[in-house]
Amino acid sequence: MNQLPPECHSVYIGLGGNVANPAQTLRSGRIALAGQASIQEKACSSLYRSTPMGPADQPDYVNAVMRIETTLTPIQLLDVLQAIESSHGRIRQGERWGPRTLDLDILLYDDLIMNESRLTLPHPGVTEREFVLYPLAEIAPAGLCIPGKGLLSDWLQRCPRRGLTVLPDV
Ligand code: ATP
Ligand code: CA
Ligand code: CA
Ligand code: CA
Repeated sequence: MNQLPPECHSVYIGLGGNVANPAQTLRSGRIALAGQASIQEKACSSLYRSTPMGPADQPDYVNAVMRIETTLTPIQLLDVLQAIESSHGRIRQGERWGPRTLDLDILLYDDLIMNESRLTLPHPGVTEREFVLYPLAEIAPAGLCIPGKGLLSDWLQRCPRRGLTVLPDV
């Protein structure tokens, strides 16, 4: 019997961190992600510096957005992301939006809309956060639609940069 090739899904991942050389941690997280057999990197934005959301008494963040293709299901992918976060010293405790070495969020997974205890898609922050919208727009095709929420370009237009800057390449 012929086996059909496993289905490939287009996914945008948000990367963030603000502890212990976040730019280097993001690069390492990106390599760990692309190094998975079930994941192929298709694009990565510049690194951005952003002002923290939530508690203000923490360092600025570094953020980026990657596009990958994967055969993993959303929950399988979340497991992989959380394992990579852990291997980069992420400890899940303390206040919400507090400092962290590495945060990997699934922003968009194909056109999927889901709301389950472990996973909400699209990520609820996508339309509101400058550190997601600007890097996403850098690598997304013109006319990208955020499932259930409308055009990326419309959200981008309404979103102030709040101090967001592109980090120079090193
Ligand atoms: P935010 O989700 O508002 O950006 P955060 O990234 O700081 O906050 P975490 O502590 O990293 O939140 O994650 C809390 C939980 O969010 C995770 O354990 C995961 O189950 C859940 N979650 C829900 N939707 C998503 C998603 N799209 N991507 C990643 N995690 C998600
Ligand atoms: Ca790979
Ligand atoms: Ca997050
Ligand atoms: Ca997260």
